Amino acid sequence: MQAYFAPEQMAHDPKQFMWEGRLCDPKDVAERTQALLAALRTLHIDVHEPDDYGVTPAAAVHASDYLAFLAHAYEEWQTLSNPGMEVLGSHSPYYNARVESLARPPCPSTSIVAKAGYYLSDLSSPIGPHTYTSALRSTHSAVAAARAVREGASSAYALCRPSGHHVRHDCAAGFCYLNNGAIAVAQLREKFARIAVLDIDVHHGDGTQQIFYRRDDVLTISLHADPIDYYPFFTGYASETGHGAGQGYNLNLPLPRGTEDTVWLAHFAHALERVRTYKPDALVIALGFDAHAQDPLGVLDLSNECFRAVAAQIRQLSLPTVLVQEGGYAVDHIGASLTAFLEGFLERRPTGLPSPRR
Ligand SMILES: [Zn+2]
Repeated sequence: MQAYFAPEQMAHDPKQFMWEGRLCDPKDVAERTQALLAALRTLHIDVHEPDDYGVTPAAAVHASDYLAFLAHAYEEWQTLSNPGMEVLGSHSPYYNARVESLARPPCPSTSIVAKAGYYLSDLSSPIGPHTYTSALRSTHSAVAAARAVREGASSAYALCRPSGHHVRHDCAAGFCYLNNGAIAVAQLREKFARIAVLDIDVHHGDGTQQIFYRRDDVLTISLHADPIDYYPFFTGYASETGHGAGQGYNLNLPLPRGTEDTVWLAHFAHALERVRTYKPDALVIALGFDAHAQDPLGVLDLSNECFRAVAAQIRQLSLPTVLVQEGGYAVDHIGASLTAFLEGFLERRPTGLPSPRR
């Protein structure tokens, strides 16, 4: 298996995010990435630097006005008389967040303050001087992995950081700026007719759901903590099943806080059954590890053995598969989570690394 990662993805260095009324220290820290890279080294998986594909792959799934905002936001922010250290919204425009609607018109105001409110849907996606470059290079890792699979590899891993699954067609959210998984789907669609996206991050993959909500050529499935009292709150409910041609091609499996391996795996079996009946030609896994029991943001109670079991079951689908890294914020555990997953996926014997449980 080949893995893809660009050093520029480390440069994004968020300083803050708002959590339950407090500005907190960032959770998407570079140490996460170091831990994932160390896990790949342990497994002797080669990490390749992706080519520079520019913004074209991202433009396949994101609105042009949103991409322009992202590219210039930090520079425009500096024109304010007393700018804060990062671009962060202070206005929340009325927005019809109905799941079936894809896009809004471009922001009517040219003010960067207005645009920050319009294009950043929460206070967890601050834009610093290197954010755009890191996010763009993160998409390139996803593109390289998808192209490897398109060209015949059975699987590939994209070490995407920043993550992507919360980004809608035209809006950043949840530590994410560009939807790497959706971009991988667009790349795969150039060869494969039907794609399934299986999201195992603890958070609902709301951006990915929205991007493909009206389509039947992309099945989206997400297992996540119940949004009734957990981020992203507004979507991720079982009643969201798709719209128009996409009706029946979105499956949400919300789980109560504290869900452990056995119950989670029973729901995962349901997700796999849906994948099988859909008969996709290729698979994208939104690979978050924040459902781990030790995750500082997660509210589920999974072990690394669960990730190992999940991976083995995904392998048994025998589909061309792109693994796209999403969340996971337990710096001391995320490497072991990736190791367990990849050992399961690649049918390797466990290395004996600890798989801690609370
Ligand atoms: Zn997450």
